[in-house]
Amino acid sequence: MENQLYIQNSLTRKKELFIPISAPNVGMYVCGPTVYSDVHLGNVRTFLSFDVVFRYLKFIGYKVRYVRNITDVGHLVGDGDEGEDKIARKAKLDNIEPMEVVQKYTNGFRGVMRLFNIQDPSIEPSATGHIMEQIEMIEEIIKNGFAYESNGSVYFDVKKYNSTHDYGTLSGRNIEDLISNTRELDGQSEKRDSLDFALWKRADPHHLMRWNSPWSIGFPGWHLECSVMSTKYLGETFDIHGGGMDLKFPHHECEIAQNIGAGGKSPVNYWIHGNMLTVNGRKMAKSEGNGFTPEELVTGNHKLLEKGYSPMTVRFFMLQSHYGSTLDFSNEALQAAEKGYKKLVNALKTVTSLHPSDENEVNAEELQAKCYAAMNDDFNTPILIAHLFEGVKIINSVYDGSAKIDDKNLTLLNKVMNLFSHEVLGFVKETSNANGHVLEGLMELVIDLRKQSREEKNWGVSDKIRDQLAQLNIKINDSKEGSTWNHEE
Ligand code: AMP
Ligand code: ZN
Repeated sequence: MENQLYIQNSLTRKKELFIPISAPNVGMYVCGPTVYSDVHLGNVRTFLSFDVVFRYLKFIGYKVRYVRNITDVGHLVGDGDEGEDKIARKAKLDNIEPMEVVQKYTNGFRGVMRLFNIQDPSIEPSATGHIMEQIEMIEEIIKNGFAYESNGSVYFDVKKYNSTHDYGTLSGRNIEDLISNTRELDGQSEKRDSLDFALWKRADPHHLMRWNSPWSIGFPGWHLECSVMSTKYLGETFDIHGGGMDLKFPHHECEIAQNIGAGGKSPVNYWIHGNMLTVNGRKMAKSEGNGFTPEELVTGNHKLLEKGYSPMTVRFFMLQSHYGSTLDFSNEALQAAEKGYKKLVNALKTVTSLHPSDENEVNAEELQAKCYAAMNDDFNTPILIAHLFEGVKIINSVYDGSAKIDDKNLTLLNKVMNLFSHEVLGFVKETSNANGHVLEGLMELVIDLRKQSREEKNWGVSDKIRDQLAQLNIKINDSKEGSTWNHEE
């Protein structure tokens, strides 16, 4: 493949040339959502980052099998080994079946992915669909001496594992620091050591989600499902594993230990970690109360939002920063993204109406090379967007007659701008009124026309607009800053 793609590998902490195990096939696994609540915009950022990775790998010719799981059991409140299952807790709160919780939020998650034009993975396996395979992996790990049973639960023996392998390679933590940072066991604990983590937990009598196993009626530990489902569908060692930075430790560290403990092989060649979406410098999270849902974002109905923003504006806002950097949410940044995105969309329309001339002052091949180079450098979307804006500038200069372009360069310019905008960055036309965008646009126009008629002191027209809108229950509110509108049902 002529494209030399470099990836920042979290495992080696180096930018490395991407060499798949069996090109043109690429296997990629990304940790999916725990489906017990609405997805917030922070979650969207992570799935969007990997959507662009998926798209670009396909764009440069790879055949990608993309596995993204649904966590529907085993993820406990507090992310540790004790406490209620997040899904079972929600089921009790709402007085419904755990699987109703799972279905509801899985549907919601898929809807949000569609809203942001995030492509479906090739396989979307669930933890509860792979209980047998998880039991088999635990049996392997016990057989290899890296896990033990205690009171019907099974724990991974971290110190034993660390005596022959390296626990902490991914997160860069060493076992001595980990030991000094964990609490002493209280003597009641089933664990031999506080660093050990659960592979299987015996269910208390009131625990809702339970399965039979050789050790007890119980449920699998949270980290196990990803070890099982990634290798089941992608092989013992596969190319890429992704997830948010917050999953590096302990989740991904435990995944590596489990896979090596069971099969002896390190599971992943390239680990990629996406960075967090923050609000005023703090990670967006449900528990922080600073996470708004995509629906609130589109309608603007949240205390942090000055107005609503379209899904493609948000996509543009997020891709303007590199997946490895934190991204802080702000209304100013989103409003700037809204303007920028409109400029790009307009240029994509304009380029189709340009006429070639015999002379040429544009080098579209060079622009194309720069776009590839940006993406080949660890999926650098902000640099790609900067190059697309060079394209926007060229398009506008040809349009106003200040630059000339010949047929060959115009064809290539059109192709580069469209392919990188749509196929790689995943922007789609927002023509549907499903989220009120058409209505928004029309109202902008109407308010503008009314403003113009008022400036011309054409009171007849401006009053007519106001009165007819009132009949549709649309109220215009005038203030010094301008006019806004709202619709009362
Ligand atoms: P969860 O459903 O909590 O397991 O999270 C699903 C995914 O969203 C994981 O890959 C998390 O790393 C990611 N995630 C959670 N919060 C944020 C955030 N504020 N910014 C970016 N990604 C996040
Ligand atoms: Zn996972």
